[in-house]
Parts: sequence; C-alpha cells; structure tokens
Amino acid sequence: MRAIVWKGGQNFQVEQVLAPRAAPGRIVARVEAAAVCGSDSHLDDFGAVPPLIPGHEAAGVVVEVGQGVHGLACGDRVAFDPVQRCGTCWCCTQGIEHLCANYRHLGDRQTPGCWAEYVAIDAANAHSLPEALGFQAACLTEPAAVCYHSLRRGALQPGQRVLIIGDGPFGFLHAQIAVALGAGLVIVAGHYDERLKRIAATTPCLVCNTRTQDLASLLSKEVGPPGVDLAVEATGSGSAPNLAIHALRPRGTLVIFSYIWQPQSLAMNLIHMNEINVAGSCRSRQTYRPVLEMIGAGKINTAAIIDLRSPLEGCLGVMQSLRQKKAEIFKAVFLPQQKMIAH
Ligand SMILES: [Zn+2]
Ligand SMILES: [Zn+2]
Repeated sequence: MRAIVWKGGQNFQVEQVLAPRAAPGRIVARVEAAAVCGSDSHLDDFGAVPPLIPGHEAAGVVVEVGQGVHGLACGDRVAFDPVQRCGTCWCCTQGIEHLCANYRHLGDRQTPGCWAEYVAIDAANAHSLPEALGFQAACLTEPAAVCYHSLRRGALQPGQRVLIIGDGPFGFLHAQIAVALGAGLVIVAGHYDERLKRIAATTPCLVCNTRTQDLASLLSKEVGPPGVDLAVEATGSGSAPNLAIHALRPRGTLVIFSYIWQPQSLAMNLIHMNEINVAGSCRSRQTYRPVLEMIGAGKINTAAIIDLRSPLEGCLGVMQSLRQKKAEIFKAVFLPQQKMIAH
C-alpha cells in the first residue's frame, strides 16, 4: 500500500509499504480521510521513532475483521479513537483508560498511524458513523472528541461563560462545542485576525486579538465581575494559563488542554486566594458517541475548519503550508484513496 513515512525532523515521504492484516481483536480499515494535527510536526519531541507512518485523526471503511471481533463487519464506516489501551494497568482498571500506562497511540512512538491507504487498530477503537456523515467531516471526530473531553474536565454547565485561549483548530472546535453544550457566552482569544474573523463568522462568540486588543478590558466590558466560569488554555503558550487565571471568577476552572513546551510559573497566589480549580485534559474518554452525534447533527461545522485537501503524495507541500500559512489554514486532510495525477 501507499503510505506517508516520517523519516525524522520534517522529512515525510510517500513509500510502498506492507499493508497491515487484522490480528485477533483488531480490524483493518481502508482510510478515506486523515487529518493533520499540530502534534504531527512535533513527532521527535513526543518520542516517535522513525521510520513511522504518522496520523491519528481519520475515518474509513472496515475491510478486514480479526478473530473474536463482535459488532463490526466489513463495509462498516468508522472513525478511530487512536488511543489503544492495555486493559490491565491501574488507569485501565480505574475508569481512566485514556491515560493507559501502556497505550499504543496511532502515529506515535512505534505504532503505525493512518496517513496510509490502510490502517490496523483495536476493534474497540473503531466507532460507527451516523449514516449521512461524510468521511472528511468524520475524520475530525478525534480532535472534536478531545475538545469535548476538555470541556467536560472543566465541568461546563449550560449558561456559563467560557474563555478559550487559542485561535487554532482546537480553539475553533472548543468554541463550537461550548456553544453546542449551551454555554451562555464564549470568548475566543488569539493572535490572528483572519482566524478570529472566521471563528466569529461560524460560531456565536466574541473574539479578541490579544496582540492588538486588551483582553482584560474586553472582559470587564463584556463579562464584568466576578469573571468567567471556565477558561481553556488551547495555545501551548507558556503565558496563556496566567491570562486565564486572571480572567476566572473565584472557584472558576482552568483547563490545561495543550501541551505547553515552555511553561511559566502560575499565579499561585490567585489560585489560592480565588480557590481556582486547575484541571489537565489529555486525549479523550467516552466522547466519540456524543461528538459523532454533534457532527452528524451539524452542530460542529467541520467544513469551516478544513482548508486543504490532498492525496498522500502532496505531504511535503501540505506540511510546509501548515507551517508557513498558519493564519489561513486551520486543518489539512489527506485523502489516501486519491492518487496524484502524474504530469
Ligand atoms: Zn491530534
Ligand atoms: Zn492500560
């Protein structure tokens, strides 16, 4: 089969590799759409070992079912939860199996991902799609599921006021899902006017470019005391958590959704004095059903987030565009069944 193979650094190449087979308890699917995540540009940093097929956001059709698999058949249309669990570690037995100590994550470390014509995965990690849902929309189930999980970690209640720091695809998805869950007011803070404009055009929310606007005065005008109920850090920037802590009401909750590469010390005295809750959010747990329903019902506008579609062969150009045109491209999606027309 054809697959994008990561060779280390920013080096990606399309190669012919052996197609996977379905081991017991597992399935093989034909990948119809596979999105690029910000983390795919940091494979080295996350401990991936080249050569590796990246990719963990995808949807496709089951083509082979391993021994002992029930409830899935060839021809089923599915989206994948990339975090395959061991089932026996402490996390797996305590109901937080998404934090499995022995997890195998598609496209991470040594587990082949889905930027390929076919992918193998534990059957438990394949979730059936609602009937009318297209594959391009469905491949965003994973990024939507992690945002849904993050809002759950923040215990979002209908009517609450939410500050989302980050205008990337995850900020966009958080905003849409917060609105769908009944948030009373959503404010998205970011750095790119183009992105913020597009977020505001599809989602009822306020936006703030913190490079040119003062977030504190916008909050005092639009929210007022005591502050927002929930703030989500979705940028990976070290300074964002303190912005959030200053915006929160007493007993408000800060969710650390992103991996922060250069953390700064938190405003501990404010956390103490205002009894701020700080919750981490990593991957997702039992959110595929509600998220697939939301996408199927049009409550998450996936088309507004996908800016680039490409066959596997366009991988280098796609990765470069994502690095260089940050303001214009939210998400890129590979269509592995599409072949590049030879010139
Ligand atoms: Zn991702
Ligand atoms: Zn486990």
